[in-house]
Amino acid sequence: MLQIKSISKQYTTGGFTQKALDDVSLNLRDSEFVAILGPSGSGKTTLLNIIGGLDRYDSGDLVINGISTRRYKDRDWDSYRNHTIGFVFQSYNLIPHQSILSNVELALTISGVTKADRRERARRALERVGLGDHVDKRPNQLSGGQMQRVAIARALVNDPDIVLADEPTGALDSDTSVQIMELLKEVARDRLVVMVTHNPELAEEYATRIVNLRDGVIRSDSDPYEPDTAAAGEAEHRTMGRASMSFATSLALSFNNLRTKKARTFLTSFAGSIGIIGIALILSVSTGVNTYIDDIQRSTMTAYPITIDAETFDLTEMMTGQSADAGEGTAHKADGIYPDDRSLKATSTLTSSITENNLTDFKRYLDDESSEIHQYVGDTGIQYTYDVRFSVFSHDEDGTLVNADGVNVGDTGTSSMASAMATSTNSGMSASSFTSSRISMLTGKTDENAAPDSFNEIMPGADDSQLVSTVVTDNYRVVEGSWPKAADEVVLVLDENNSIPLTTLYELGMLPAADYNEMMSALDAGDELDTPQDKLDYAEALDHELYLLPASDQYVKGDDGRYTYIGDDADEIESRLADATKLKVVGVVKAKKDANATPLPTGVGYTRALTDELIDRADSSAIVADQKADATHNVLNGMTFSPDDDATKADDARAYVATLGVTQKATMAKTMMGQSAQAGQAADPTQAAAMAQMDEQQLAASFDQYIATAPQETLVAIYDRYVSTGSYDDNLAAFGVVSRDAPSSINIYTDSFEDKDKVSDAIAHYNETVDDENDRITYTDYVGLMMSSVTTIINVISYVLIAFVSVSLIVSSIMIGIITYISVLERTKEIGILRAMGASKRNVSQVFNAETGIIGLCSGVLGVAITVALNVPINAVLHHFIGDDGVNAVLPPAAAAILVVLSIVLTLIGGLIPSKKASRQDPATALRTE
Ligand code: ADP
Ligand code: MG
Repeated sequence: MLQIKSISKQYTTGGFTQKALDDVSLNLRDSEFVAILGPSGSGKTTLLNIIGGLDRYDSGDLVINGISTRRYKDRDWDSYRNHTIGFVFQSYNLIPHQSILSNVELALTISGVTKADRRERARRALERVGLGDHVDKRPNQLSGGQMQRVAIARALVNDPDIVLADEPTGALDSDTSVQIMELLKEVARDRLVVMVTHNPELAEEYATRIVNLRDGVIRSDSDPYEPDTAAAGEAEHRTMGRASMSFATSLALSFNNLRTKKARTFLTSFAGSIGIIGIALILSVSTGVNTYIDDIQRSTMTAYPITIDAETFDLTEMMTGQSADAGEGTAHKADGIYPDDRSLKATSTLTSSITENNLTDFKRYLDDESSEIHQYVGDTGIQYTYDVRFSVFSHDEDGTLVNADGVNVGDTGTSSMASAMATSTNSGMSASSFTSSRISMLTGKTDENAAPDSFNEIMPGADDSQLVSTVVTDNYRVVEGSWPKAADEVVLVLDENNSIPLTTLYELGMLPAADYNEMMSALDAGDELDTPQDKLDYAEALDHELYLLPASDQYVKGDDGRYTYIGDDADEIESRLADATKLKVVGVVKAKKDANATPLPTGVGYTRALTDELIDRADSSAIVADQKADATHNVLNGMTFSPDDDATKADDARAYVATLGVTQKATMAKTMMGQSAQAGQAADPTQAAAMAQMDEQQLAASFDQYIATAPQETLVAIYDRYVSTGSYDDNLAAFGVVSRDAPSSINIYTDSFEDKDKVSDAIAHYNETVDDENDRITYTDYVGLMMSSVTTIINVISYVLIAFVSVSLIVSSIMIGIITYISVLERTKEIGILRAMGASKRNVSQVFNAETGIIGLCSGVLGVAITVALNVPINAVLHHFIGDDGVNAVLPPAAAAILVVLSIVLTLIGGLIPSKKASRQDPATALRTE
């Protein structure tokens, strides 16, 4: 029994208050068919909605089976609607994208009935209204009458006590209306049916009771009902159970929803994914550009490491020092002649900028793992170069002995200007070899027994076990043979044209020496040069034998205990070749076309293993042992190293003269006479005349006599002019002694320009800690000189890319939010239907959130997938325009995962606001929305 007790309801819109119901009281029996008649706007729908719990009354009470609803909470009403009420609307209010079976199932789904059970019950309900054959159709595939029957089936499926129908035949023709009325009459047999209608004839014919409503007041009632109020007593409050729907059900429901409207879901996801695609594409491209920039930095830093030579000049200081004075010079007034000292100053800067670096101390700093510098050193690490001394000999095809340092053994004196130039034009000069050769030109100092120019150490790996660095193997390819695996294995390094300088080939004995000498003569004579153009087979090169003699092996000990250099004596060398180290050419390599760094000059490459072996051999050689045993006397000539008293100098001068031959003594005598004459000393004219008469033999004899009695100062003068004792250190260096603590140069490799700057800073800090000014490290920062503006450009590019990503992130987030907002907003009606079925606010927002979450996931995955697909053509375009495949747009997997999560979160936020708003909305209002 349903009792409506003095219910009033009024609507206030814009200051105007409309009384929809005015103190309406009506008692309804448990089983009757009530028709409510009245003109439009008389409050019929309002009354029905209040009975159905869709709308709230302002005053009065609705008593259901003796229970007052005055203190009902939202969930009590939800439960009441779900379990007690079935709604039928004029406009059917079916959910268009679901099959009619699902539409009917909906009320059961909300109340948490299991799937099989609700399917069965929905099917039965549909059979009951005569639609058993149409279960899989969509509402829009049915006629109006059929749709209304679906709505009735839906209203009945929960077997409610009350069915409320708001103008169920309003949109139907009269024949169909009759069928619906028959159905409702049938339904009303065992429950209460309240039907609002405009049609008094239908009401008269089918309804058991007619209530007339006008302006919110009941005007007439054909069959009023007065229950025994005394027996019922005061209406009490009791809480209803609640309509329950689990999260899994709402997820399944939303998944089902989405499945039934695939195209729509796809379009919404696609719209949402556009934002994700935007971010992902910019991320991909910026990742590609960043990787490219990093690669360039790494390869630039590999090609131009920070190089610190034992002897160096500060190119930076020279350039900056000169630039201050360079160009226009100092402006003067036009009142006289001023000297321009710019070129002199430049020269002075040049000489003063030559410095020696104390690499021993610096290496100690580098060897300390805790040094600041190690944070910034790249994968290639720090490489040390040692100045090992050795010569390489070989026989050409005619059996002539050749020396790889460019000097034909045995004809030291005849090396012509042309051949000297030809040798010095050997290609493949690195920055550091450029520096050292410059220095030797400036200071006139040459390295005794230095390794041949064409022989270069192959950069070893950062790890000791690796003979060849990956920097080398990455940038060079082996065209024949393999990389060296032992100390006695070397490779030939070709240039990009597959060639090696002609001179180097002669020096290695791979071409006949006689031809070379002929060419040099032609060059000196200014004749036309005829150079051989035939190629050498790789196999021939690999067969060729090279003999290595360490510097220490090129001295022989004489009977007097002194050592003599035999490196220029062909016979002596020849006799030693049998015991010399044979170098095997095991491979031919050349730089790859796209090589980033070419640390290996053209010529012959040997390994760090050979360097190590040479250092050990020098240490254990006899000459080094002898020199070390007596550190005060030169083992080459027995003289004292830099004596400070004149007596020793005089003795040494005498000893020196004694070693000379007749011709040399005679020449010396003549020179000394000439000098004293030039000096204006009163030379004895008779003595001069006598000397002019003498032959070489006599001259030498009288010179010996003269020396025997010569005053000490003359002997000291001879000593200063002719006798050179060198120094202990110079001797050891010439014999090939190398301290592992004293590299000749240090290369520090970093991975980026920024790290390079940090290494520079670390060296500056090191210099600050050094007490002695001479121990400070000077070097040339070539990359810094070349690239300072590039670093700025790279930073600008990075910031621009970050800005792009941020902007696209914000724009896309807003877009995703708006798209979800609109798509949820547009479904207000559906939310109203769900609420009418008894879904709680929470149920509704749950369903919508699950749905937007799934759409967010789809958007994210779709966005990532489309981006990955788009990267293919984008890369093709990038490669085409850049003309290089260095830049590769690629979406990092971590970023992809983050974007999917981001898409879900953004969509949820975008959907949360409208779905909350929609679920909060008064269901009656939601249903009125079209
Ligand atoms: P009927 O169904 O009899 O045509 P209604 O119950 O729909 O009448 O409406 C009764 C009165 O209440 C009408 O004057 C209508 O304009 C007003 N009304 C109904 N719902 C609202 C609402 N949500 N806001 C303002 N006025 C409303
Ligand atoms: Mg109405």
